[in-house]
Amino acid sequence: MLHILNYERPQTLEEAYQLRQKKGSAVLGGTGWLRLGEHTLRTAIDLSGLGLRYIKDEGDSFLLGAYTTLRDLETSAPLNEAFGGAFADAVGSIVGIQFRNCATLGGSLYGRFGFSDVLTLLLALDCEVHLYKEGWVPVETFAARNGEPDILTELRIYKNRRVKVLSQRLNANDFPSVTIAVSKGEDGFRSVIGARPCRAKIAAGPEKLTLSTAPDFAKKAADAVSYGNGMRGSAPYRRQLAEVLTRRAALSLLQKEAE
Ligand SMILES: Cc1cc2nc3c(=O)[nH]c(=O)nc-3n(C[C@H](O)[C@H](O)[C@H](O)COP(=O)(O)OP(=O)(O)OC[C@H]3O[C@@H](n4cnc5c(N)ncnc54)[C@H](O)[C@@H]3O)c2cc1C
Repeated sequence: MLHILNYERPQTLEEAYQLRQKKGSAVLGGTGWLRLGEHTLRTAIDLSGLGLRYIKDEGDSFLLGAYTTLRDLETSAPLNEAFGGAFADAVGSIVGIQFRNCATLGGSLYGRFGFSDVLTLLLALDCEVHLYKEGWVPVETFAARNGEPDILTELRIYKNRRVKVLSQRLNANDFPSVTIAVSKGEDGFRSVIGARPCRAKIAAGPEKLTLSTAPDFAKKAADAVSYGNGMRGSAPYRRQLAEVLTRRAALSLLQKEAE
């Protein structure tokens, strides 16, 4: 159960940042994760008064506010048209619609969860995370760090890559056994493997591919990262899934291009 000793709803980002510097403070996203387990927050910071729920089309990129929900990502027509439905594919199996109406993009990124479908997809795209004090940070740099006391305000996603995301789950709406994403830009193909069950990582690329070299690329990507054993799969099973799903995603992007 989550215990909150002091609830704050700041009116500016500076106020939110100052509150976040206090010991025992945390920002409230959708509280999907925060409310699990036994926690006491001395200061809970609700950002809902700051207008951080938006998806803005900026021409060559999208700007997404930290309070954008997973359901917003799933149902946004411009976002899904630009990326071939990848956002709907990535989040559509996360728990259920009521949950996705609450869980936020900011909480999903800040949490840097090993099982994250969202982080796997974003690492395959060219994007940057905006932290109120620090400024813009490439998502890859952000994903490799832990828990800085800053406020994640928004995310910029460039439209320069096509992407395909696939996951394998033992049951619909369970955590994934593995999630992969493959993207293609001018520099070639990039492969990301997540839910290994460790945090998603860029596994291979950029590399130019053809239908005949895609299987080797998938094998190389699957061999480049480590896997763990767990209730959702053994390490060898996860590695095998990663190779098969990466190959399928790369072939699907190549075939679409040829149409
Ligand atoms: C039962 C369950 C199953 C799930 N299954 C999946 C799954 O299959 N795939 C998947 O990808 N995800 C899954 N998730 C994770 C989920 O999608 C969200 O990522 C998670 O709930 C966190 O989002 P939230 O908005 O609820 O954040 P919260 O729980 O509110 O916060 C998470 C963390 O982020 C911090 N935070 C939140 N917003 C900000 C901000 N703007 N700035 C700084 N810090 C911030 C909080 O202080 C906290 O530390 C699951 C979660 C649950 C509870």
